[in-house]
Amino acid sequence: MIRNPVPWPNGAKCAACFTLDMDAESLLHLAHPQRAHSMVSAASMLRYGPDVAVPRILDTYRHYGIRQTFFVPGWCAERYPYAVEAMVREGHEVSAHGYMHEHPNEQSDADERHWLLRSLSAVQSVTGAPSAGWRAPLYRFSHRSAELLLEAGVTYDASLMGDDIPYLIETPRGTLLELPSHWGMDDWPPFMHSSELEFEMPIQSAARAWEAWWEEFEAMWEFGGLWVPVWHPFLSGRLARWRHTHRMIGKMLDKGQVWFAPMRDIAAHVRACMANGTWAPRTEQPLTLPRAASGTEFAVPPAEETRR
Ligand SMILES: [Zn+2]
Repeated sequence: MIRNPVPWPNGAKCAACFTLDMDAESLLHLAHPQRAHSMVSAASMLRYGPDVAVPRILDTYRHYGIRQTFFVPGWCAERYPYAVEAMVREGHEVSAHGYMHEHPNEQSDADERHWLLRSLSAVQSVTGAPSAGWRAPLYRFSHRSAELLLEAGVTYDASLMGDDIPYLIETPRGTLLELPSHWGMDDWPPFMHSSELEFEMPIQSAARAWEAWWEEFEAMWEFGGLWVPVWHPFLSGRLARWRHTHRMIGKMLDKGQVWFAPMRDIAAHVRACMANGTWAPRTEQPLTLPRAASGTEFAVPPAEETRR
């Protein structure tokens, strides 16, 4: 079903990386800059991430001997350096995820470049190393992002949803490696409920949420894909949910032939396969739709053009 599966290391059937986006109260400051300081309960829900969930998550990874990836907004790295330092100390990857969780595709050209660089430098000031990767806050990758990331020396992106396996995005500046996931792997739909953040979903049990994630895992395992949950410590790191995940990681390891690795190692493996000719990814050309002429409604292209 996957036409061009990646030859994963040591004959692994699939690659797997839990990506935990430690957004903390950046979400609140972005949504309610004037009122965030007085939204104490919502702040406590978000602060549960760095203060309670991250140590728990790190314990599980240590228990199983796996290294994974965290994406952290620059402001959160500055505010919770102890959480980020603990991730780094234990050998996990920490890469950047905006500065205050701002949305690149709603910014001007200059603003996107400014906040990308500020995000990267803030994360580096705490981790001591440049970010290997990037995930755009709320997947809000812009038509400029690929080029800006290459310009900034970022080696892979994890914001897009265009395949089950890594692929390349072509730009005039070169190709950016994409390590994709999708909304079905995100923990907001099953777990997020917050009137303050205007995202109110019927909360599911961990077992029910994992039913879907396990189906995704089995399919990736069967066909050689890349399994990447897009999770958040303040949601998936809650007690019953993480207890369930702790058991499920054991189940995945028992199944065997799964390559758990940080995203930076997955990116390096893919680049190495490309260099030694053992695998070639699909390349995606244009990222953008044609722009509507200013002052006009966007017109649906004629049928002829749609078919091409
Ligand atoms: Zn985020």
